[in-house]
Amino acid sequence: MSQTTASQKTPITVAYGDGIGPEIMESVIRILDAAGAPLDYQVVEIGEKAYLSGNTSGIPAEAWDTIRRNKAFLKAPITTPQGGGYKSLNVTIRKSLGLFANVRPTKSYAPYVNSPHTGMDMVIVRENEEDLYAGIEHQQTAEVTQVLKLITRPGSERIIRYAFEYAEAHGRKTVTCMSKDNIMKHTDGLFHKVFDEIAKEYPNIESNHQIIDIGSARVAAMPETFDVIVTLNLYGDIISDIAAQVAGSVGLAGSANIGSTVSMFEAVHGSAPDIAGKDVANPSGLLNGAIQMLVHLGYAEQAEKINNAWLVTLEDGIHTADVFRPGLSEREVGTKAFTDAIIERLGQMPRKLAAAQFQAAEIHVPPVRNAAPKKEMEGIDVFLDWADGDRHPDRLGKILEDACPEGWKLKMITNRGVKVYPDGLPETFWTDHWRCRFISPDGSALNFSDVLRLLGSLNEASCDVIKTEHLYTFDGERGYSLGQGE
Ligand code: NAD
Repeated sequence: MSQTTASQKTPITVAYGDGIGPEIMESVIRILDAAGAPLDYQVVEIGEKAYLSGNTSGIPAEAWDTIRRNKAFLKAPITTPQGGGYKSLNVTIRKSLGLFANVRPTKSYAPYVNSPHTGMDMVIVRENEEDLYAGIEHQQTAEVTQVLKLITRPGSERIIRYAFEYAEAHGRKTVTCMSKDNIMKHTDGLFHKVFDEIAKEYPNIESNHQIIDIGSARVAAMPETFDVIVTLNLYGDIISDIAAQVAGSVGLAGSANIGSTVSMFEAVHGSAPDIAGKDVANPSGLLNGAIQMLVHLGYAEQAEKINNAWLVTLEDGIHTADVFRPGLSEREVGTKAFTDAIIERLGQMPRKLAAAQFQAAEIHVPPVRNAAPKKEMEGIDVFLDWADGDRHPDRLGKILEDACPEGWKLKMITNRGVKVYPDGLPETFWTDHWRCRFISPDGSALNFSDVLRLLGSLNEASCDVIKTEHLYTFDGERGYSLGQGE
């Protein structure tokens, strides 16, 4: 724990951001100071200015040193310029610093903020580095594009263990895993399997698994039934917006991006250029990110003090324009007056809304390296670009059977995952993208020389090979999916 003595201050990195960023950061820092949070703010210039001066990542080299040196980074929203090959600064920071866990608490503040769900209080722990967000995409034929979905065992173990550690540290009772492992048995299946393994290490926390489609529907319709949810990157991205929306408060939500050494705290919303400089922005999203930061740094007392004063301000009906509802709110205020109202209420406790209670918790989940299993190759999937004539798979099958060298056997051909050879159905639609599965005829293990021999024969037969995937077993367990209809 990094709690400092009274004379010391914890250095944190601060970026004022773009659009409404400077106004809401100024508000948050005033509140942090008024609550006595012992922080030393080290400011970095990142975002629009850096982008437009030719830095495609939006982060100048000198900013990296400060960000890497300090344990916490409080970041206001950034404007990403349109077009021009600018990279998302958030994705760059997350990946470069290994911020593997995105933690998004979502609560409803009904009846003070309009939401039908009074009891909603969930935390979504989203895997932040893997999945489709690895950004590995290719166009392979005239008709077909692909993206690689990467799910790793170390990545899954780390995020799932983090979710259970978070639940224990914050007095939460249940962790729900969401995946689509009924369809993606190897990628989502790995995530679910690791979840079941790790859940056994936490007997005091209840655990369950839901398929992401029904899980998302329940997040929308009955969010009060969830406690902590842990899920893959894309699903987490989607359900955290659904959750924020049904809480009635996209503008109120904060978010933490947790890494081993550095963690980044921010609002969920963007830089809102449409209202920048008008003193109307709601600073609550960034304030809630800052409250998460205080808890992370060990300043639970100051975090509670700020959170409770903010809740009292909401209860008193002092609302910024985005939350203001005639009949529900008492007074519409700007950013500065809202900030003053929170500061005036420091030390007060909410009357109706549940008071904040935080336990200072620094959760460490180091990455793990798994022991290497015995790996054997029992076949290969060769992907071909083939758009000949009427594209009948029986003709392609004949070409491949003729080209197949000794020591190999053509097992099947699929198109978009569905078996079309041998014995395909005429109703199946054929694109120009064919997955041709070759295996060892007698089950003996294959090696890379065998692969080169097969590819050489296919090349001589003028086959347009666009990609290959080896079919491995790991400790005797099949590490690839069967074709639909195989
Ligand atoms: P946005 O979240 O900035 O705005 C969406 C709508 O919500 C706007 O009408 C805006 O006025 C309103 N809004 C947002 N925050 C508000 C607040 N605190 N108080 C009151 N109203 C608020 O989303 P956008 O318009 O799609 O994006 C604008 C810019 O922000 C883009 O350049 C985008 O790339 C960037 N962005 C940055 C981050 C980040 O830095 N974390 C996240 C999302 C978007």
